[in-house]
Amino acid sequence: MLGVADRERLSVMQSYRFALDLTPRQERVVLAHAGAARVAHNWALARVKAVMDQRAAERTYGVDEASLTPPLGWSLPALRRAWNAAKPVVAPWWRECSKEAYNTGLEALARGLKNWSDSRGGRRAGRAVGFPRFKSRRRSTPSVRFTTGAIRVERDRRHVVLPRLGRLKLHESARKLARRLDAATARIVSAMVRRDGGRWHVSFTCAVQRVQRVPARPDATVGVDLGVRHLAVLSTGEVEPNPGYLHTATRRMRRLARRMSRRVGPDRRTGRRPSKRWETARGQLARAHARVVNLRRDGLHKLTSRLAREYGTIVVEDLNVAGMLANRRLARRIADTGFAELRRQLAYKTAWNGGRLVVADRWYPSSKTCSGCGTVKTKLALSERTYTCTPCGLVLDRDVNAARNLAALAAEASTAGSGPVAGRGADRKTPLAGLVAVKRQPGTATAGKTGTVPPQGRTSNHVPTNAS
Ligand SMILES: [Zn+2]
Repeated sequence: MLGVADRERLSVMQSYRFALDLTPRQERVVLAHAGAARVAHNWALARVKAVMDQRAAERTYGVDEASLTPPLGWSLPALRRAWNAAKPVVAPWWRECSKEAYNTGLEALARGLKNWSDSRGGRRAGRAVGFPRFKSRRRSTPSVRFTTGAIRVERDRRHVVLPRLGRLKLHESARKLARRLDAATARIVSAMVRRDGGRWHVSFTCAVQRVQRVPARPDATVGVDLGVRHLAVLSTGEVEPNPGYLHTATRRMRRLARRMSRRVGPDRRTGRRPSKRWETARGQLARAHARVVNLRRDGLHKLTSRLAREYGTIVVEDLNVAGMLANRRLARRIADTGFAELRRQLAYKTAWNGGRLVVADRWYPSSKTCSGCGTVKTKLALSERTYTCTPCGLVLDRDVNAARNLAALAAEASTAGSGPVAGRGADRKTPLAGLVAVKRQPGTATAGKTGTVPPQGRTSNHVPTNAS
């Protein structure tokens, strides 16, 4: 008999998040810990800044490098050593909170400093990262992470035990995680308690042994065209409607925001405290936002799970979401559909299900290419919902055509043996000259593909590097 244990295992990090029902006393303890994390963070940041300033000043006086004030290490152990030496003076109450609280704050700072220096030294992709800033009690999300001590799910699966906080009641059952813990296919690495959307959550980061699955149709390929009109259009012709929860909830949120603005809010200059009614309105608005976030996440998870379970290969476009958000008319709808989140979910779910994800190059003209004969149009207005090819007479829905082109890219990626992130693909079907010519058309930047709005104005500079 072939048991589950004999099958191939996949080791992944996975997190399980549950809503909490905290008692007022527990809430006070969590907030105290979150506050302690903030104090440690801000103290260490001030130290880092002071030492940097001191060294800069000394250099201007002509002090030689060897006799400068020694630099403060930016690693977590170094920050922790500095904090432990200073805490009796800086925070004489330090014994009241778990050491994990201070660690939470210092770890966030160490990460922030590393991201900043990596970003500055060109070792980090993405947009430039700013220098860490002080955390404010008002603006920062209260959270604390535990990595050691008694962290467990109780037998009733309705309670969890955390260091210092003790037994916390869950708002929902933790059975999914408990089953894995019982079967020893999961090990809790850390637990974070955090307030988001006006509600407390505990999130367990676990090392999980997953059974390697196989997609239902391992040889099938599906192209997914992400759009604004629909959430996604598949190369099979299937249309995944845009949930647009945010769109429908916008009116409610506007109303709540208006209500909040009419009530007496806090004023830092005069020290005015917010009224009870303002606090109520703020809570309502936060919950409206949280509801939208939850609904959206649910819709995306359902779609990505279905795709990853069924298809062996999934092809999506590499969308420049940052560039798209700069276009303000499309911005809200695009943010609503959560492209980046969809990509992220597909990436890990295809890995879990034994499939692969192919990401087409950002400059691949999936909408302008004919999926029948490979002809590339020079112009295709966003308003043209049907793709009509003059050379071969193909007439097809615009988005289905784009999705089919994406699906065709997968074959190229696999023959090239270039693995899951290749799929530059513009080589065979689309001659390079054609691609450049298309992209150099003035004004095509906004009248381009569905949803794929290239960064404004800088298009031609980028083409040679990306298409080579
Ligand atoms: Zn054609």
